[in-house]
Amino acid sequence: MTTALQKVFARPVSLKDVQTHFCPGCNHGTIHRLVAEALDHFAVQDKTIGVASVGCSVFLYGYFDVDVVEAPHGRAPAVATGVKRVHPDKIVFTYQGDGDLAAIGTSEIIHAANRGEGMTVIFVNNTTYGMTGGQMAPTTLPQQKTSTSPYGRNVQTDGYPIRMAELLAVLDGTAYSTRVAVNSPKNVLQAGKAIRRAFQYQVEAKGFAFVEVLSACPTNWGMTPLKANERVGDELIPYFQLGTFKDVDK
Ligand code: SF4
Repeated sequence: MTTALQKVFARPVSLKDVQTHFCPGCNHGTIHRLVAEALDHFAVQDKTIGVASVGCSVFLYGYFDVDVVEAPHGRAPAVATGVKRVHPDKIVFTYQGDGDLAAIGTSEIIHAANRGEGMTVIFVNNTTYGMTGGQMAPTTLPQQKTSTSPYGRNVQTDGYPIRMAELLAVLDGTAYSTRVAVNSPKNVLQAGKAIRRAFQYQVEAKGFAFVEVLSACPTNWGMTPLKANERVGDELIPYFQLGTFKDVDK
């Protein structure tokens, strides 16, 4: 008989039984698991198509036991649009970082949301370009030092961090837009609920759903996993406030 504890720690069937390449303390693994748990919850593994972006999450197909399409830089929402329109019965999601979604693919995400495409978008915001070496992203915080802002982000010349969840919430095509974090057990539980709700919107064919997840990148922040996790609570959450900015069902 399966105990309650075994059930909690059991690997979701939508995830493969493989080791990840993510750095120690990276939150991608946690977020992958939450997405897989949502797919398991709705029993849609066999009809799910993930769209991988460019960045540290590029190897989506290596971790999720679902069909996956690889999209060019920033174009995941455009690729997902095509996949979903050809296969409206499938569950289609993109998984994108902030360099990919909020910089290279700003146009694609805004127009996919504005068109109300029936997809689920998981947006991992760690305030930097992860895979390419920690460059400044649109989400980099004021004064944050990165490899391309060695003196800290200067909002006078570099602009302000973009709050994607709020920005997309004002578009009529967006049905659900929320921001969560995975820096504490309580926030992980909340993030799991939000991701499940975002897939529920798609299962019920109710429109475009977006979940921004604040995440740690210890490697490019030059921090230990513990310090990086603390930074999410101390610096990211005060700027990128957690909450749901649109939920048309409520
Ligand atoms: S570089 Fe950052 S985002 Fe990429 S795997 Fe490492 S910790 Fe995660």
